[in-house]
Amino acid sequence: MTAHEDVYGVPADGRWAAPGRVNLIGEHTDYNEGFVMPFALPHNAVATVSRRTDRLLRLHSADGDGGITEVSLDDLAPGRVTGWAAYPAGVAWVLLADGHELGGADIHFTSDVPVGAGLSSSAALEVVTALALSDLNGLGLTPDELARVSQRAENDFVGMPCGILDQMASAACAAGEVLFLDTRDLARRQVPFAMAEAGLRLLVVDTRVKHSHADGAYARRRAECEAGAAALGVPFLRDVPSDGLDDALARLDDPVVRRRVRHVVTEDRRVERVIGLLDAERPREIGPVLTEGHASLRDDFEVSCPELDLVVEASGKAGALGARMTGGGFGGSAIVLVEAASAEAVGEAVREAFAAAGYAAPRVFEAVPSAGARRLTR
Ligand code: ADP
Ligand code: MG
Repeated sequence: MTAHEDVYGVPADGRWAAPGRVNLIGEHTDYNEGFVMPFALPHNAVATVSRRTDRLLRLHSADGDGGITEVSLDDLAPGRVTGWAAYPAGVAWVLLADGHELGGADIHFTSDVPVGAGLSSSAALEVVTALALSDLNGLGLTPDELARVSQRAENDFVGMPCGILDQMASAACAAGEVLFLDTRDLARRQVPFAMAEAGLRLLVVDTRVKHSHADGAYARRRAECEAGAAALGVPFLRDVPSDGLDDALARLDDPVVRRRVRHVVTEDRRVERVIGLLDAERPREIGPVLTEGHASLRDDFEVSCPELDLVVEASGKAGALGARMTGGGFGGSAIVLVEAASAEAVGEAVREAFAAAGYAAPRVFEAVPSAGARRLTR
């Protein structure tokens, strides 16, 4: 008996997967209509779904609160579903709001994306739901549409004002490639990222410090960026030209807003430098750009934490090519670029530094660019 049958008493009509992600570079740029460069992790949220003949949506997660959340599709509204089930319920709500016809469904989720680790377990849950409902109801949504629907679910139903990075990464990434994405119009290019062939490894270090965007810090950063754009008379910080950065900074009175603007504008340039280096097949040289990006997030955007800073510092001392926090910050995970031959030693050095600082042991694993959202079985 499958877990789906165990919970719902009927076999599933299909099975879908959507991955978590790491962002190589381009942090807190998405809601400023800038550039990002994520790739998908081999870790996925997996949904099995069986159609219902009535209008009920029933949701169960092997990693949730143990219960089944049950709501009629006709009663969905923000606030009606709380906790983890708001993410998938929100997706159904957005699809209905867009005028799509949905039938009732029983959905069972499992996931091996670490939760609250800055690796986008929430986007994986949303995108797998959007894809499953699209397929089962014959909606034929494109990856862009899946991502937009998922982002709106998180913004308007869950209440988290995130940009489109996580959802686009989960919906549109491909194995072996990073996604160079312009979040303004979702123009994108898949770029081969064959680290192993280049003798490199990319490590993910989950500090196990749970980030908590919901406490308002993320929303505050977003508001500060909007204040900066308004003060400079541009629609978004994306529109500040890099050769106009000094002028722009001189026109800003608020020192906090000035730092936020400097991060966003320089971060967009770092994304462009990284894509240039990858195109030129000089992957080692992205290391220092990653570390520079971390300093900017730590000092100007102020979204790092001591544990993330320690990953960067300890891995650097142990010979890593570069490292940075990834994801929204305030905890979560860092990425570390290393020569393959020193991967073990760098991981060990980070573990030792954490032990010496009295921090909980971090989880270290190698990140390989993996497939985006897809159907697994009929
Ligand atoms: P991140 O996306 O970085 O992992 P978020 O705070 O954005 O962190 O999302 C984490 C939330 O997503 C969890 O608190 C939970 O509500 C929900 N979630 C993610 N994966 C699962 C899962 N497998 N089962 C139930 N809820 C999940
Ligand atoms: Mg999330």
